[in-house]
Amino acid sequence: MQFDTNGSGEIEAIFEAAHSAPRIIHVADATGKAIAIALLNKLKNHPNVTLLTQQTAVDLLTSNHHSLDRLNVYDEPECLGAYVLDRPSGEVHRILAKKTVLATGGIGQIYSRTTNPLGARGDGIAMAYRAGCRVINMEYVQFHPTTFMKNGAPHFLISEAVRGAGGRLVHEDGTPFMDKYDPEWKDLAPRDVVARSINQEMFENGLSRVFLDFKSYIEKDEIERRFPSIAKQCMQYGIDITTDLVPVAPGAHYSCGGVWTNMHGQTTLNNLYAVGEVACNGLHGANRLASTSLLEGLVFGNRAAEHLMPLLADAEAPSADELPSWESTGVYDPDPVLIQQDMDRIQEMMWNYVGLVRVEWRLGRAMRELRQLETEIESFYRKSTLNDALVGLRNAVRVAIVVTTAAWSNRKSQGCHFRV
Ligand SMILES: Cc1cc2nc3c(=O)[nH]c(=O)nc-3n(C[C@H](O)[C@H](O)[C@H](O)COP(=O)(O)OP(=O)(O)OC[C@H]3O[C@@H](n4cnc5c(N)ncnc54)[C@H](O)[C@@H]3O)c2cc1C
Repeated sequence: MQFDTNGSGEIEAIFEAAHSAPRIIHVADATGKAIAIALLNKLKNHPNVTLLTQQTAVDLLTSNHHSLDRLNVYDEPECLGAYVLDRPSGEVHRILAKKTVLATGGIGQIYSRTTNPLGARGDGIAMAYRAGCRVINMEYVQFHPTTFMKNGAPHFLISEAVRGAGGRLVHEDGTPFMDKYDPEWKDLAPRDVVARSINQEMFENGLSRVFLDFKSYIEKDEIERRFPSIAKQCMQYGIDITTDLVPVAPGAHYSCGGVWTNMHGQTTLNNLYAVGEVACNGLHGANRLASTSLLEGLVFGNRAAEHLMPLLADAEAPSADELPSWESTGVYDPDPVLIQQDMDRIQEMMWNYVGLVRVEWRLGRAMRELRQLETEIESFYRKSTLNDALVGLRNAVRVAIVVTTAAWSNRKSQGCHFRV
């Protein structure tokens, strides 16, 4: 690799360090859990941290939308904290802050098939969007090729390490098919290529899934030694990975786009930072490499903290007097059947019309239907008392529109965005 040098050796040292560091760090096959536990333990014992649980952020507080005193039109808008729903009491509080950091994760739950946890419904992106932040690259939704696909079972992820160890994608009769799509790399082709190939096989043959074959290609003791968690999860749903074919299909996995940030995690709204999957700092381009979310979460989490800490002392604290309390306009209990029905519609529409392969007329149809649905949801939202599911539904439909509009506007297939 060629690079400019300033003669100090600094840049060479950075490159050398980058080359000698492992690209992937992990704790067995449960890295996220190890990180979350370590961070939570630190936070619980930190004297400056108050942990609030069972809270749902509803909207960001901004000077231009909410402040009574900071209404000077010549000032740049700024973030002053958030309105937060206390789930047990149903009350919405203001949490005022000199600096606010969004870290609400991804958007997988706007799709009917996803590896993501229930909280990944794009709340942070929707809140930032409503507050006027720049949101970019939302068409680049990465689909993982192999999520478990059995009726009544969750769509948990079956790691790429299985194909790395020799496992192959096959049909029910055991015939492999990846040679057809990528004769050189076959089952080890990039994530987007494998996911689209599976999609094509399912489409052409009217299938809802294909299979991952461990048993014909990997020794039994290697399967047991290397994939204990996958074995345990599959067994819960009656699949023995040492003897059975494992049913799989692609699922929405990672949002490469998000709230635009600079290299310090700052968004376009003053005093608002975004870190982790909610953010888009350009690291992933159009297609994220596996395991790089640690970089986005840990490295940029740290960078944002380093940037904002020295600014706190001189920052003016927002005063409660200048910000209105939450005004509830809702009188009805939110109807869970309506919420579930609307969420199902969003997820199915996104899967069918804004999925792995995007076609202009389907995207147009999705946009029209989602906009109509958003109007309904917004009116329902205004008339109902708040709960977590309703907040999530409102955010999910907005994020679905943002993804669809981005996918519709960008005609160029690149990375995980594929247009025909
Ligand atoms: C199955 C799976 C396997 C993966 N494997 C890897 C891997 O091996 N290596 C790797 O680097 N990456 C991996 N990833 C990606 C990585 O786990 C995620 O990108 C990363 O966890 C995102 O971290 P985050 O802190 O941004 O968000 P999250 O960890 O999702 O945390 C966001 C939190 O915010 C909460 N939240 C959301 N909305 C609100 C709201 N309105 N109010 C209050 N709280 C809210 C959510 O409930 C959640 O607790 C994997 C992802 C999945 C799904």
